[in-house]
Amino acid sequence: MSVNKNIIIIGGGASGLFAAIKAKENNPQKDVAILEAQSRVGRKLLSSGNGRCNLTNTSCSKKYYHGSFRKFIDIVLGNCSVDRVIKEFMKLGLMTKVEDEGRVYPVSNHAGSVLDVLRFRLDALGVETICDTRVNDIHRQKKGFYITTNNVDYICDKLIVCAGSCASPKLGSDSSVIKILKELGHNVTPLSPALCPIKVKSELLSSLKGVRVEGKVSLLEGENIIKEEYGEIQFADNSLSGICVFNLSSEMKKARKPCIAIDLLPYSDKKYIINILLKHKEIYNNINIENLFTGVFVKKLGMVILKQAQVLPFSRKISSITDDEIERIADVIKDWRFEAQKSNDFSHAQAVSGGIAGSEINPYSMESSIINNLYICGEAIDIDGDCGGFNLQFAFASGIIAGENV
Ligand SMILES: Cc1cc2nc3c(=O)[nH]c(=O)nc-3n(C[C@H](O)[C@H](O)[C@H](O)COP(=O)(O)OP(=O)(O)OC[C@H]3O[C@@H](n4cnc5c(N)ncnc54)[C@H](O)[C@@H]3O)c2cc1C
Repeated sequence: MSVNKNIIIIGGGASGLFAAIKAKENNPQKDVAILEAQSRVGRKLLSSGNGRCNLTNTSCSKKYYHGSFRKFIDIVLGNCSVDRVIKEFMKLGLMTKVEDEGRVYPVSNHAGSVLDVLRFRLDALGVETICDTRVNDIHRQKKGFYITTNNVDYICDKLIVCAGSCASPKLGSDSSVIKILKELGHNVTPLSPALCPIKVKSELLSSLKGVRVEGKVSLLEGENIIKEEYGEIQFADNSLSGICVFNLSSEMKKARKPCIAIDLLPYSDKKYIINILLKHKEIYNNINIENLFTGVFVKKLGMVILKQAQVLPFSRKISSITDDEIERIADVIKDWRFEAQKSNDFSHAQAVSGGIAGSEINPYSMESSIINNLYICGEAIDIDGDCGGFNLQFAFASGIIAGENV
């Protein structure tokens, strides 16, 4: 059995919900339906921004995005800017506020508010939301598409694919539709996890679990810096985390043998740090070296720095530290190196690097240049953004553009 619709949207996530609203607003007489694999729409949206949904960023520009076809992002953002996305949400009744570094959140501080305004608009417009319906395949017909699902099959004239990629698959997306689009003739650049913790090799990290410190992290290939970021670094059992680390993870694929360097005091040079340590030697000369970093780092971190610099045992008095040891400690503080491991684990990723080649999609309409009447939006495309609202901005903008042009 098959059901006819004029316009079908695959995926009720960030891009799909906006695409459906705009498609129906522009084609009020047509049947518009969303097919969603999960039991409800917008699960990832609800988890976004730690449940607060960082929906866009006022300083959005091309420099915060990565992908093989950079011109694409310029055109999409030019066609549907941050102001436009905020205004579209205002029209739906959502009040927003701007926080640090231009991050935009709902004033309610609840991602549920963002999802609710989208859902209520869909209901008011009469868009059908068909949940528990996983698309298994898409067949091109003379005119339109035949879509097979785990339930009934669907026939439609126009199809908007908003099925995401495979970041955090427990929230819905598993890149299954990207594979279908590949079989239909699209090129797909390799998928790798982005905006995720970076696994590193170090036996010392387990004792730092839960410790957070402000610093600079750099992704290196040999001595060549691929990217560096400032911010709060979080230590975990066998990985480094925090927004600054997340932003490096997207670039891991650029390194053959990636390495992470941490600068724990980025605003002080090595000479200044050596002077501070000499001063500490003078003040605390008669106490154990494990207290050397009093007033600078938490004790746990200080002890690991000493181990890394091989300044042991902890029972030694601070007065016994030699100039050579102080030099080694300063080196660890300024340039602590970790061998990083590339990973294919998407379970903790907030985004995916790679996807349908942007060069095969018209950024003015989001229509595929390979298949007429097929539109592709959001994370399925080979574009990923840094942390800070850039991924949702792209998802909303591409959804709005597709819906308006379908
Ligand atoms: C934990 C977390 C927090 C995040 N926080 C932020 C943030 O604060 N700010 C930000 O900018 N970005 C954030 N992101 C990234 C952002 O959520 C995504 O970039 C964005 O949701 C992508 O939108 P999308 O519409 O392309 O895909 P999705 O939102 O993933 O939606 C795709 C939908 O398609 C459905 N689907 C998939 N396959 C099928 C199929 N075969 N049949 C039917 N339906 C299917 C899925 O169930 C899903 O509902 C976060 C991501 C995660 C995982």
